[in-house]
Amino acid sequence: MLEIKNLHVELEEEDKAILKGVDLSVEAGRVHAIMGPNGSGKSTLSYVLSGRDGYEVTDGSAMLEGDDILGMEPEERAAAGLFLAFQYPVEIPGVGNMTFMRTALNAQRKARGEDEISASDFLKLVRAKATELQIDADMLKRPVNVGFSGGEKKRNEILQMAILEPKMCILDETDSGLDVDAMKLVAEGVNALRSQGRAFLVITHYQRLLDHIKPDVVHIMVDGRIVKSGGPELAQEVEKNGYADIMAEVA
Ligand code: ADP
Ligand code: MG
Ligand code: MG
Repeated sequence: MLEIKNLHVELEEEDKAILKGVDLSVEAGRVHAIMGPNGSGKSTLSYVLSGRDGYEVTDGSAMLEGDDILGMEPEERAAAGLFLAFQYPVEIPGVGNMTFMRTALNAQRKARGEDEISASDFLKLVRAKATELQIDADMLKRPVNVGFSGGEKKRNEILQMAILEPKMCILDETDSGLDVDAMKLVAEGVNALRSQGRAFLVITHYQRLLDHIKPDVVHIMVDGRIVKSGGPELAQEVEKNGYADIMAEVA
C-alpha cells in the first residue's frame, strides 16, 4: 500500500535535515505503528506524505499503490486514498462541520469521476457514522473544531476518516491529550475501519493507544530514521525501558 524508500527531507527555510533516510513498507490490511522520542521526525513524515508546504524532499521516494505521491498536490493524494488525522486538528471558524465533510467527500468523488452524494444520502451517512463514534448532532452543526474539546477534535478526525474511507490512514498522535475513555472510543473507531484493503500508520509517543489498536508491526524512529522494527512487544519494551536502550544499541 505504502512504500517509502530512503526518504530524505529538509526544512525549506533552514536547510535543516529532518528525515535522514526513512525506509518503510506498509502492506494492505496491516497496521504499523511508529514510536519515537519527541523531535525525531514522526510528524514531519506524516506532513511530507500528505503534501504540507515548507519541506523539501532531497532524496528518496514514497509510493501509494505504486504511484509516486510526492509529485502530487495534497488534494490529489487525498483522492488517491491518503488520509492524515492531525496531531493538532485546526479550528476553521465560519465553515460548518457538515459542509466541510460533504465538500471533502464530493471533491474526492469528483476526482474519481463519480457522482456527488445527495444531501439526504450524506445526512444519513454522517448521522450513522457519528452515532457510532458518539458524536452528538450539535458537533456536526458547529464550525469545524471550533470550541470542541481535545477529545471531540480527535473524534471528529476519526469521523472524517470514516466518511472518506481512505486506503492509507495516517494518525499522528491521535491519542495525545485524550483521557482513557476518549482514547478507547478513538481506538474503537479505528478498529472498526480495519479491513483487507486499508492500511494504517499509527504514530504515537506512548504505548497505551497500542493496547487498544493492536499493531502488526512497530517501528522506532530516532533522529530522522527508523532504527528498529519488530512486533507489538517492541512497544512494551519502550514502555518499560524508554528509548535509552534502543538509542544506545543503535549508537
Ligand atoms: P516528532 O513528531 O517526532 O516530535 P517533528 O517531526 O515534529 O518530530 O520534528 C522533527 C524535528 O524537526 C524537530 O527538531 C523539530 O523542531 C523540527 N521541525 C519540524 N518542523 C519544523 C518547522 N516547520 N520549523 C522548524 N523546525 C521544525
Ligand atoms: Mg512532537
Ligand atoms: Mg509529532
